[in-house]
Amino acid sequence: MPLSPSSAAALRDEVAGTITDDPEALTRFASDASHLVGTPAAAVAPRDREDVERIVQWARRWKVPLVGRGGGSSLDGESVPPPGGVVVDFSGWTRILEVDEADRLVRVGPGLVNRELHRALLPHGLFFPPNPGSWAMSTIGGNTATNASGPRSLRYGSTRAWVRGIEVVLGTGEFLRVGHRTRKASTGPDLLGFFVGSEGTLGLFTEITLSLAPTPERRVGLVLPVPDDLSFRTTLPRLLASPAPAFAAIEYLDRSTAAALSRFASGRLPGDSALVLLELETTVADEERDLERAAERLAGSGFSGDPVVFPDADQLWTLRGQSGDAIEQEGVRIHEDIAVPWSRLDELIEGTKAIGARHEVPTRLFGHLGDGNLHPGFVLDPASERATTVRRELLELTKRLGGTISAEHGVGLVKAPYLVLEHGDVGVSLLEAFKRRCDPDGILNPGKLYPGPGPVAGRGSS
Ligand SMILES: Cc1cc2nc3c(=O)[nH]c(=O)nc-3n(C[C@H](O)[C@H](O)[C@H](O)COP(=O)(O)OP(=O)(O)OC[C@H]3O[C@@H](n4cnc5c(N)ncnc54)[C@H](O)[C@@H]3O)c2cc1C
Repeated sequence: MPLSPSSAAALRDEVAGTITDDPEALTRFASDASHLVGTPAAAVAPRDREDVERIVQWARRWKVPLVGRGGGSSLDGESVPPPGGVVVDFSGWTRILEVDEADRLVRVGPGLVNRELHRALLPHGLFFPPNPGSWAMSTIGGNTATNASGPRSLRYGSTRAWVRGIEVVLGTGEFLRVGHRTRKASTGPDLLGFFVGSEGTLGLFTEITLSLAPTPERRVGLVLPVPDDLSFRTTLPRLLASPAPAFAAIEYLDRSTAAALSRFASGRLPGDSALVLLELETTVADEERDLERAAERLAGSGFSGDPVVFPDADQLWTLRGQSGDAIEQEGVRIHEDIAVPWSRLDELIEGTKAIGARHEVPTRLFGHLGDGNLHPGFVLDPASERATTVRRELLELTKRLGGTISAEHGVGLVKAPYLVLEHGDVGVSLLEAFKRRCDPDGILNPGKLYPGPGPVAGRGSS
């Protein structure tokens, strides 16, 4: 759906950045990593913050939806443009504006890719801990807008824990700087927190300040084969009962997922049993002793078997990051993202398998075990009615177990109808009231996050 000739002419007149409206060139903006495909009218790469303000003012005037975009790696349609929408492409905003070693802060453009930030910070002995499996393609803007996390979030938390400040152009066109450079602030409710996880529905981020952690001297990966039916209800709390040795990540692959990943990664991981993967933080001097203590702690917690050591944990996470692709090759097309408290993990695993069995759908399970966060995969056409039923049953089960319907991927288009399961009607209405103040015309990423009719235009349009 192209822009009207007059709105297209106004966009060209008013905006300094590069505008793309050639249908073939636009195909790269039409989808993300979900199964959904949108129909953008144009894409604009803004030149600077004032340009973003002009784009928003233009969109308000012409009632055109805007969708902010970083790496386009979302899994639930968060960055799929609505029909006739304009993509605001931040992928060129990759500058590191400041590294403050004393206060352990970094200020970056929202388009900076997570792994590039990691590389740039190495000489400073600092790092930004959230390391999603997509770290080679996803951006700090996207990570912030989805509150992304990764294996190391067990020790360090999600992106939310590390965002100190955001500069944002609201859907009104107003510019806002939220957050503090201080480690603490007690100045009312967490205004900054509203923007983390907002999926481009409140404003477009033009700059992000992150806090950083000191880089551990050594980070070692451990791979432990475990029985497929191992109970995590007591083993996991026992393993995590003591701060030492310092496990930064505990991941899980069920037997079928481990087998698929082993085939995909040419046997670089064992494929004949379920696997628990761990990261141990240590020092060169203490490594041997800590590895022994880790093995003892694993055995004492009920994880039998000898761990295989990966000297560089990042190599292990690169392999682990291919789990989704590996099971996709074998037909899995639905990837869920749910979390429950540790004590309910066994019930979640059993319940997920039961849902798969009831609908005669092959099921795979992997995820961030230490966070109680699993990614059940189902061999199902994501557009089918059965997929909707399976998803609803899984999300309802998760809520019954005291969990969350999205642990790290976000809500997007796919889970917007279920947001009320998470927050209830009153909770959703509060979110919508804030949305209305930030974006009264509903031009920012319509259809994402918020369920049902309300203040948001163009719902369910993709
Ligand atoms: C192979 C693979 C592995 C993955 N592993 C993980 C994982 O381990 N953990 C995890 O959390 N996620 C994971 N994901 C999901 C995805 O990578 C994350 O959600 C990531 O944070 C998205 O970043 P992005 O830059 O690609 O954002 P995009 O997809 O471009 O956008 C995501 C959302 O952010 C908004 N947005 C982007 N830029 C801005 C901006 N400047 N201002 C305002 N809003 C903006 C968009 O509008 C959209 O709503 C994975 C995805 C893939 C494909």
